[in-house]
Amino acid sequence: MIWIAAGVAEELEIKVEIPDRQSAATKVTEMLDAADLESLERRPPVVTIMGHVDHGKTTLLDSIRKTKVAQGEAGGITQHIGAYHVDVEHDDQVQQVVFLDTPGHEAFTAMRARGTRVTDIAVLVVAADDGVQPQTKEAISHARAAGVPLVVAINKVDKPEAEPDRIKQELTEQGLVPEEWGGETIMVPVSAIKGDNLDTLLEMLLLVSEVEDLYANPNRPAKGTVIEANLDKARGPVATLLVQNGTLRVGDCLVAGSSFGKIRAMIDDRGDRVEAASPSFAVEVLGMSEVPLAGDEFDVYRSEKEARAIADERTGRRRETRLQQALSSRRVSLSSLSAQAQEGELKELNLILKADVQGSVEAILGALNQLPQNEVQIRVLLATAGEVTETDISLAAASSAVVIGFNTNLATGAAPAAEQEGVDVRQYDIIYNLLDDIQGAMEGLLEPEEVEEALGVVEVRAVFPVGRGSVAGCYVQSGKVVRNRRIRVKRRDEVVYDGVLDSLKRMKENVREVAAGYECGIGTAKFNDWKEGDTIEAYQMVSKRRTLAVT
Ligand code: GDP
Repeated sequence: MIWIAAGVAEELEIKVEIPDRQSAATKVTEMLDAADLESLERRPPVVTIMGHVDHGKTTLLDSIRKTKVAQGEAGGITQHIGAYHVDVEHDDQVQQVVFLDTPGHEAFTAMRARGTRVTDIAVLVVAADDGVQPQTKEAISHARAAGVPLVVAINKVDKPEAEPDRIKQELTEQGLVPEEWGGETIMVPVSAIKGDNLDTLLEMLLLVSEVEDLYANPNRPAKGTVIEANLDKARGPVATLLVQNGTLRVGDCLVAGSSFGKIRAMIDDRGDRVEAASPSFAVEVLGMSEVPLAGDEFDVYRSEKEARAIADERTGRRRETRLQQALSSRRVSLSSLSAQAQEGELKELNLILKADVQGSVEAILGALNQLPQNEVQIRVLLATAGEVTETDISLAAASSAVVIGFNTNLATGAAPAAEQEGVDVRQYDIIYNLLDDIQGAMEGLLEPEEVEEALGVVEVRAVFPVGRGSVAGCYVQSGKVVRNRRIRVKRRDEVVYDGVLDSLKRMKENVREVAAGYECGIGTAKFNDWKEGDTIEAYQMVSKRRTLAVT
């Protein structure tokens, strides 16, 4: 299955180096380097299951594991390590799909907030006897914000009161149009409890993964993310590592976050001891010096010494900068946005909107749409009625978004979370003020415009030869003239020089500026063809904050 990179490398390189869809979101660590492009191979997709509570996420995960993993396995014993893989027959080949075992978008977004992206595809579970619920909408927003494709599993179709068509209709209202209705979203009716149609769901996941360019280079030291970690009384620190590039081997020396490890043993999701783990597979690893954090990245180093040194350095740095990190967060606030815009980082304003009632949500969305967006785009990641919750804060943190609350409160835990994550939460009770602030922030995102500001007008009254050139004896008619600023020399209506004023003298003394009503001598390095009667316009360029042009 070696993928010949040559022809497509260019295309892939673009994908690797410019994660377009993440441009506005938090910086995400790239797992691939340019050097990997030569030896890329396809890797299985890593899937997260999301959806509203009680719609069947856990049942679906268990059911897929049971039906697919137990087959042919001695005893069918599986180990809970935070992720598991299944084998699927697809295109006459056995391929794998890897599932992260923690359902829900909270975990998904919490990881993303730390700068890691582990999920390639999200399965959105919607119960056919219930429909689109608040957490369904949240899950959609979270997947969209991360740029992760969604496959919908319409679950519980075994129930007599199941109405899959109504679910499709409701999802269409959320912008997810089923393929059979001319849209792009794959929707598979399933019964998690009975195990019906799970094969189709898995096939669809493989289909989606085919267009997602999921590649890694197995022939290099491993790199990836910690997905679970804990301290086991008997075994010491235990961490489940998801390999995202390279191959992880027993004996490897690695650094995860600030902890060092020399891998003593690895156990896969089927409970077997293994010697190696390739891209997209998760293994439980023994031999870490401390328990790393879920979401920490890990890297394998060729030398133990180097790995130890890096871990030590990080431990020290982590201690020192824990507070600083919290403060100098990479999050945005309405006021820090313009600085980022000037660095060319941001031309999108990501918003999360929570309001008292759905009516207010619609009204505010309508008003936001009226704001001109030809230069700065407003991206509403989530807009629902309700309190501002901790999950909203982590979505905001993960996506560099600002949270706007209208006539609503912060749920318990949201305020400390916002403070810790450095998320800007703005509360309003007057729509006008809300729009005013947003417009202000968008204007801050526009690059300032350079505009000319007139300083004064000067008349040339005499010309004195100096060395090979000449200087103009002048009289300042109005305003002032300033050295090192710009002048425009006009002879009747023609501009004969436009440039910097290099030398300005008053009574033979070099001066910085001369005001109206005084005489002065003016010289420039680049122009000396002065004529009596020339007019000099003194001016400077200033940058001015632009306002949004209404189209
Ligand atoms: P979660 O909160 O999304 O993880 O949902 P659970 O997996 O815990 O499921 C919630 C309830 O729905 C449980 O009582 C399940 O037995 C039930 N359930 C899940 N899937 C199905 C299904 O396909 N058919 C039926 N009839 N019940 C299901």
